Amino acid sequence: MTLFSPIEMAPRDPILGLNEAFNADTRADKVNLGVGVYYDENGKVPLLRAVQTAEEARVAEHAARAYLPMEGLAPYDQAVQTLLFGTDSPLLQSGKLITAQALGGTGALKLGADFLYRLLDKRLVAISDPSWENHRALFEAAGFEVVNYPYYNPTTHGVDLEGMLQGIEALPEGSVVLLHACCHNPTGADLSFADWTRVIDVVQRRKHVPFLDIAYQGFGDNLQDDAIAVRLFAESGLPMFIASSFSKSFSLYGERVGALTLVTESKVESAMVMSQLKRVIRTNYSNPPTHGAKVVAKVLTDPALYELWEEELAEMRDRIRLMRQALVEKLKAAGVTSDVEFIQHQRGMFSYSGLTQLQVATLAEDFGIYAVGSGRICVAALNHGNIDHVANAMAQVLL
Ligand code: PLP
Repeated sequence: MTLFSPIEMAPRDPILGLNEAFNADTRADKVNLGVGVYYDENGKVPLLRAVQTAEEARVAEHAARAYLPMEGLAPYDQAVQTLLFGTDSPLLQSGKLITAQALGGTGALKLGADFLYRLLDKRLVAISDPSWENHRALFEAAGFEVVNYPYYNPTTHGVDLEGMLQGIEALPEGSVVLLHACCHNPTGADLSFADWTRVIDVVQRRKHVPFLDIAYQGFGDNLQDDAIAVRLFAESGLPMFIASSFSKSFSLYGERVGALTLVTESKVESAMVMSQLKRVIRTNYSNPPTHGAKVVAKVLTDPALYELWEEELAEMRDRIRLMRQALVEKLKAAGVTSDVEFIQHQRGMFSYSGLTQLQVATLAEDFGIYAVGSGRICVAALNHGNIDHVANAMAQVLL
């Protein structure tokens, strides 16, 4: 008997397993649609020009790397708030906002989960069915019971709004409700403005705690419209939690740039809440890293770099849209008669393609095309070089 002998192998992460299978495949035309990152037309993770310029300026400063405060870089935290609520929001000067730089969107969710665990007696969180797979695992690891509310309707390929509203209504009062602010992962199905007002109404009436996850701001319509859920919740006056991620929008995955923002009821409350949030930070990792936050803060606060970033974000968004459109056209041209139009209307990087687990397995085995078992495909992994192969293979398994 050794210290580690009772330990069993943890279950394989389905997406990492998929990457392993992809890497082991020797076919030259293999395609990995299982990923959760944006690839450019050349199949590469891009280095944005705005990021590169900000980085060059930073390196030229030859700045020492002192510790940041526990809540992170102040200009970064402020810029995050402006991006979320808009430059004209009265909330920015209200003292009701608290932002802590976090280790990506995941780190922001974890900070929020740990904070809520200490705050609440009833530790129940509801996530969409389906949701980003780490939502459940992360909240369970933080000590929460995790339940689902209905979200996706496979028949319409859109949101089951009535089911969602009923599910949220039926939760015990004061539950945490986790919502994807835009570009829902994994389905690509989003709520409309009118839908959000109904969701907010139920959340408010049932005294639930809204926790918005915004990991794809800018990948839907644009930076402003993609923040509509955040802004509508803010208008409702509810206290709330928001986890921001810049991994995708700045293509800075490995730098771990994210933030947790809380809306409180007053300046006094903010001070107390921040003091407790700092304790969570202090006992986890003490303070966040400098580089990514400096780069993002520079881009967000320099008008020329901001403009360039918006252009580059639009390029990524438009390329994904083009790929959606091309995939639909090519599927139809290859003889697919079933409804595939929905792929074009879904938003963000992903599409719940409607492929069954068996069809996904056939795609991998016969064509070297790898997708998640749920049928989720990353549209951002398509390009002009691989789309014909993907469309023809999909058509063959669909027909
Ligand atoms: N939330 C959602 C919905 C995501 O899809 C992701 C990443 O895939 C994250 C959060 C985490 O982002 P990060 O890589 O910044 O931790």
